[in-house]
Amino acid sequence: MEVHKILIDGKWIKSDSGETFESVNPATEEVIGKFQQGNGEDVKAAIDAAEDAFEKWSSYPAPRRGEVLFKAYQLLKRDKERLGKLVTSEMGKVLPEGLGDVQEAIDMTAYMAGEGRRLFGHTTPSELPDKFCMTIRQPLGVVGLISPWNFPVAIPAWKLMPALVCGNTVVFKPASDTPLCAIELVKILEEAGLPKGVVNLVTGPGSIVGEEIVTNPKIRAISFTGSREVGIEVRKKAELKKVGLELGGKNGIIIMDDADLDLALDGVLWGGFGTTGQRCTAASRVIIHKKIKNKFLDMLFERTKILKVGDGLKKDTEVGPLVNKKAVEKVDKYTQIGLDEGAKLLYGGRKVGGKGFFYQPTIFTNVDVDMRIAQEEIFGPTVSVIEIDSLDEAINVMNSINYGLSSSIYTQDVNRAFKAIEKIESGLTYVNASTIGSEVHLPFGGVKDTGNGTREGGIEGIHEFSETKTVYVDYSGVLQRAQIDIE
Ligand code: NDP
Repeated sequence: MEVHKILIDGKWIKSDSGETFESVNPATEEVIGKFQQGNGEDVKAAIDAAEDAFEKWSSYPAPRRGEVLFKAYQLLKRDKERLGKLVTSEMGKVLPEGLGDVQEAIDMTAYMAGEGRRLFGHTTPSELPDKFCMTIRQPLGVVGLISPWNFPVAIPAWKLMPALVCGNTVVFKPASDTPLCAIELVKILEEAGLPKGVVNLVTGPGSIVGEEIVTNPKIRAISFTGSREVGIEVRKKAELKKVGLELGGKNGIIIMDDADLDLALDGVLWGGFGTTGQRCTAASRVIIHKKIKNKFLDMLFERTKILKVGDGLKKDTEVGPLVNKKAVEKVDKYTQIGLDEGAKLLYGGRKVGGKGFFYQPTIFTNVDVDMRIAQEEIFGPTVSVIEIDSLDEAINVMNSINYGLSSSIYTQDVNRAFKAIEKIESGLTYVNASTIGSEVHLPFGGVKDTGNGTREGGIEGIHEFSETKTVYVDYSGVLQRAQIDIE
């Protein structure tokens, strides 16, 4: 069994702790490898290496930094098949989605490689003569990246690539369920020619490795994607550091009485059961007009009961396993909560026996808006169906939750679509498409408890990982006082 190492200052080494942990294939329960159980000393060494590397990397012209990313983009494309299979083996999503996870990283790497020749500031006229005003973008310094397991290649790439092109150096802690995907991604960056110390990777528990990253004063910014509970702690403990938080969701699909029901059905199945419901943008609520509810539920039942649950590496599998045993217990607990609350189980609601962490796709009907299954993030293949009578009611239901990540409406009526776009409280709204499907060149993030208002991706991803410096150049040769010498 291979024992993987951590990367500090360009060297793959063992942890100071002398301990290891295992990563397990959730479909087979086979151990994929052993990994270093990093500790605070490892993180401190990683931060020192990143600090040492900062001066050189941040002075390297941004277009050259972009070229390293361009090389990484080529290598990711070369290795897409291998990495896609690894994603499926380590976290369970079906192979087409494992390949999609890697493709997202490829896309982000290409986008950020190009940013090396942009990193735009802006210019604007001065209120005074012979004075020039502009903004430039500057790196932050050493940044800490903490990622979840559900997009084990894509989410690290959403953080690493903008951080690097902006000239920062990095201490990266991946989720303990998917350390191998993170190691393979960082090895690609090494092969692309990233200088030593620019990215340092420490595996190990969030409560130790993550905690040190969040609290260490030498780290200037944290980019965290994960649960709301941990996100709140990160925000508190990071004190005045710049913090980007991408947290959970309880996303909904509105289906109006004029919707194309076949299209909406595909959207509900893809959004609800894709990645076994383990996406922050998963469609865990269906908010449906009462005129078409019964017809739609019949259609949904017929399609759900034939979904093939199994190992994501097998060709005909449509729904893979949950990430681990704890996740199965959590989903099952919510099934019981739904039943206790009086919701009706239309389909599923059971663990699948045998090896692996499988759970049936599960649909609840007769769900009231304030039930826990309609409010809390389950992060599994559980869809709650809520009946509504009008667009206003649908929007109220959509907005009744603490989260605000993604939303969707199926309707043929452009007026209804635009009303929904305007009134729904979420970072993303889709029209006649499911709640999932973000593209790397657009901002991604949510409102309300989904985060703290930051966005990843697109140009806003650059803003997350850089500072704005405002520059005034006075070429008048005399003292000019803003707001005073205005005649
Ligand atoms: P967690 O919050 O449990 O973990 C996320 C990361 O934080 C992991 O690397 C974890 O390490 C680490 N961590 C745990 N405790 C601490 C701590 N005290 N200090 C610092 N870091 C810590 O979330 P999950 O991995 O379970 O991911 C699922 C969650 O992520 C869901 O809520 C989902 O909605 C959200 N998510 C949000 C997205 C968005 O962009 N809005 C996208 C994808 C997911 P370890 O693994 O070692 O515990």
